[in-house]
Amino acid sequence: MKLGRHFTVFGSAIFCVVVFSLYLMLDHLQLDHINNPSNGERFENGQLGILQDKIDHLERLLAENNKIIANIRDSVINLRPSVKDGRGFLEAGNESQVLVVPSAPLIVPIDLEDCQFSSQTYSKAADTVQMLDVYDLLSFDNPDGGVWKQGFDISYEENEWDDEPLQVIVVPHSHNDPGWLKTFDDYYRDQTQHILNNMVVKLHEDKRRKMIWSEISYFSKWWDNIDHQKKDAVKKLIERGQLEIATGGWVMPDEANTHYFALIDQLLEGHQWLERNLGVKPRTGWAVDPFGHSPTQAYLLKQAGLSNMLIQRVHYSVKKHFASQKTLEFFWRQNWDQQSSTDILCHMMPFYSYDVPHTCGPDPKICCQFDFKRLPGGRISCPWRVPPQAITDDNVQQRALMLLDQYRKKSKLYRTKVVLVPLGDDFRYTEAQEWDQQFNNYQKLFDYMNSHPELHVQAQFGTISDYFEILRKNVGMDKVGMSVGLSPFPVLSGDFFTYADRDDHYWSGYFTSRPFYKQLDRTLESHLRAAEILYSLAFASVQKFGKPNNYPAAENYKLLTAARRNLGLFQHHDAITGTGKDWVVVDYGTRLFHSILNLKRVIVSSAHWLVLDDKQTYTYDPANPLLQIVKSKMVAFLRALVVYNPSEQTRTSVISIYVTTPHVHVLTAHGQLVNAQISAVWEDVSHASTEAFQVRLPALGHVKTILMVTDGNNNILNASFSLEFLINFDLWMSEGRNVLLLQTLKLKEDGSKHSIKVEFLCYGTTSKKDKSGAYLFLPDGEAMKCSPSQPAVIRVTKGPVFSEVTTTFTHVTHTLRLYNIHGVNGQAVEISNSIDIRGEFNREIAMRITSDLNSKDRFFTDLNGFQVQPRRSMTKLPLQANFYPMTSMAYLEDSGRRLTLLTAQSLGATSLRSGQLEVIMDRRLNQDDNRGLGQGVLDNKITANSFRLLLELFNSAEGVTPRENTAPFSYPSLLSHISYMYLNHPFMPIVTSLDSTVLALAPYSPLSSPFPCDIHLVNLRTIQSQVEGGPSEQAALILHRKGFDCSISTKNTGLLCRTTGGKVMLHRWPYMCKFISLIPVSLSLMHQSPRGPVEQEINLKPMEICTYRVHLA
Ligand SMILES: [Zn+2]
Repeated sequence: MKLGRHFTVFGSAIFCVVVFSLYLMLDHLQLDHINNPSNGERFENGQLGILQDKIDHLERLLAENNKIIANIRDSVINLRPSVKDGRGFLEAGNESQVLVVPSAPLIVPIDLEDCQFSSQTYSKAADTVQMLDVYDLLSFDNPDGGVWKQGFDISYEENEWDDEPLQVIVVPHSHNDPGWLKTFDDYYRDQTQHILNNMVVKLHEDKRRKMIWSEISYFSKWWDNIDHQKKDAVKKLIERGQLEIATGGWVMPDEANTHYFALIDQLLEGHQWLERNLGVKPRTGWAVDPFGHSPTQAYLLKQAGLSNMLIQRVHYSVKKHFASQKTLEFFWRQNWDQQSSTDILCHMMPFYSYDVPHTCGPDPKICCQFDFKRLPGGRISCPWRVPPQAITDDNVQQRALMLLDQYRKKSKLYRTKVVLVPLGDDFRYTEAQEWDQQFNNYQKLFDYMNSHPELHVQAQFGTISDYFEILRKNVGMDKVGMSVGLSPFPVLSGDFFTYADRDDHYWSGYFTSRPFYKQLDRTLESHLRAAEILYSLAFASVQKFGKPNNYPAAENYKLLTAARRNLGLFQHHDAITGTGKDWVVVDYGTRLFHSILNLKRVIVSSAHWLVLDDKQTYTYDPANPLLQIVKSKMVAFLRALVVYNPSEQTRTSVISIYVTTPHVHVLTAHGQLVNAQISAVWEDVSHASTEAFQVRLPALGHVKTILMVTDGNNNILNASFSLEFLINFDLWMSEGRNVLLLQTLKLKEDGSKHSIKVEFLCYGTTSKKDKSGAYLFLPDGEAMKCSPSQPAVIRVTKGPVFSEVTTTFTHVTHTLRLYNIHGVNGQAVEISNSIDIRGEFNREIAMRITSDLNSKDRFFTDLNGFQVQPRRSMTKLPLQANFYPMTSMAYLEDSGRRLTLLTAQSLGATSLRSGQLEVIMDRRLNQDDNRGLGQGVLDNKITANSFRLLLELFNSAEGVTPRENTAPFSYPSLLSHISYMYLNHPFMPIVTSLDSTVLALAPYSPLSSPFPCDIHLVNLRTIQSQVEGGPSEQAALILHRKGFDCSISTKNTGLLCRTTGGKVMLHRWPYMCKFISLIPVSLSLMHQSPRGPVEQEINLKPMEICTYRVHLA
């Protein structure tokens, strides 16, 4: 076929679904040419068993040499079906075509009360701290503070503690990264298991000794390897309060790049493990190493029933300011919360690091002398060149007074006479001798202090919750209650990004580092959510069915558990951040890949059960499954499609399927022709494949069947190039020299034109000594045009379903796509960028969107996909300080409009000028940035980043003053929320393996009616049974009511839902199965809510995330 060559108009779609690329990669490992016609059959029969073998093969390969995989991947991405021709083969008129699209109401029905929340006026109460104000206040100078370099001299009066002694709580800890310089397994083998083994022995030697532990990924691995005797000993330590589990998450997660779905996943996995094995309920959060802190994590901990938390990595200027104001301890309150229901007591560590030199007091030279692992003769020493001395009767007085001086000074930065002193570092307490050195020497110091009443001090080992308990008692608060009115602590709202630890060293590089894996993480998240929900429904249905069947309930549950844990592991602050060693990154990547493949098995085997009319006929054959997710293969014959909509709303969306012939037609289950568009698949920038084609068609949102028929000769779908946009935008392109990029958007709603330009720019790194690396962004100035490029290749597709323009130039293939269908899909411009930075050195590629919005210095980025944080671009800060994490979206607004960029992966973003939004796409850096990693970032892959760009108008009414929003909170529109779901939780087209149209498949819809627009089903997750580690009959139903902005027009948005004041009626949901019981619990199911079981309806407050323990049948 010479199809491609004859086309005058070409199309493209760098719509690189990572999973698809993965399949291609795997196939490529064993198949010579993916487009070889003879391989069509092999694609057709591509069995999961074979894939399993391939992934095993891949893993062996990875172990041998991870560079091979990088090369293979990259070369295969070049082959991926990137571009489709624009021939719409549909002949309008002759056939009676069906657009499977329900009609949406002109205006979304919104409960008026739902709007009051977002439009509430902001009033700042006394003794509250708003981080935006703090940033206004600070000069961000960096004067030398003396021994406390980033602080100030601290003085005190000798008699200050005469009436009330100083209480010192020294908290031994060991920071165990689940992967960084070594893989998770290597760290476990070399360090972590020894720490935990020694812990059991050494804590039992003296009941006054204490220890805290936080990473359950490690703890559970160790637990599986120890005998019952040791397990009992551990339980005894916990009972006696000597060992405390802090936070209790699977990892200590990054707080910038993580999505709240995954944050909840890893917290739930850790807490569920604790409940099953130890029966403990964590009370205090412990986060000493994440590179900046998000209020989302504070909210999740609060919802999980924790009362206190500790954070460490905060900008040194903020720490200094808080220290001077004595606001390092505060109740952290969510921006939107006008009462105190989200308050959690937070302790911020004051100094540079969590190591011993920076925790006993302001002078690291002194404090280092009290890190007894650094005693002379050991492997490490003090960089301040004064070594520790072992404590003896001769020196104890002098040493104790010296240490007490530091404790007293530290306590002066806080409002109470209780002082917290963490005692530990990375992978500490590995050897028995180290335990003795630390604990024996400190005990001597404590004994001396405590036996001298004239010192007015009481010093002891404690856990982190011991500290908070003593603190709360000291100020007259109860153990968990808030009693803010009575407490001496201020209330704080806002976040702690972007972190700087010294000078202009801002940690904004890791918001983007290794974007390929950040993308993969989100793909796993959407697969995990989809699989969890389908599994829970299928498992309930299987039990209801009652009769023997071979639905693989236990096997699927194992796969789900492993996927939860792999996703959880990747939320670690050196994993999703892209700050691990190359081979550690590959280890994480392999786990993510593996789990995505396994989740596909769970999805198809569960979907198979659910759509089967006659459950008796269910068969499970992993080597030859009836259903397969179609992204992985080309379809050559008559097939039935099952489209799985993983969202809780009715949805019309375009799906794409790869086929072996351009002669295709698509029918509904009732035989009506569906409007579809055939496109070319491009082998490279300018050559279309003659063996692979792509069909894109609109599909409706329930799990239902559509027939797709391919026909060798009969050219049913004819070319049709007339382009009539039904949708809201026109794209206006102009040729600036040789690059065709977006220039203007025309809104169909009112015909207005808006200048919105897209360009790609490059940052270099500074010529100073310290340069950009995996963590740090240290640019050489503003972004410039990238190096001279060869002429761009431009492909244009026009068709009845979608139209797009693809521009390929140096490093970037950029596609803008419009969907020509009613509904949400037609409201936004889809942007796909394929970035290849491998030829560069010390470069970062940015996409800049310049609009005519008068946004001034104000912009908005989300935090963890959960909430929106208003930002201000500040000239008093270096450029890199104005970059913030963008997990799900960033937007700009002026009095009339809002421009939102929705993203399918976490990246760093900013607005450096009014009207501008800028996002870093990838970064390639030659050197280490001196934060311990010891390497640059040179393992770049060709990375596909996806976005949607949404331009919305504010409601205009006469007499209403132009919008001047300066509140410290902001909310996306409903359309923006729903568009985000389209981007991050796309339809899953599943194809049957049989060449048959007479399969007895029934559309399956678990919801009898869609959820309200603002209610999101975060997860429906089957709980592990207490006994065997298999599934129980209970599941966690997690719901989130999103906050949304009502001042944005909802006219013609295509939304097929309404709002209901936060009510979800239970008798309407679920359908085809029912809840036997529904009990409100804390986020991670550890605590019963005082509210009794739910009878009729669930009521959610705006922004609230609620968990229910449900029994499905
Ligand atoms: Zn760490």
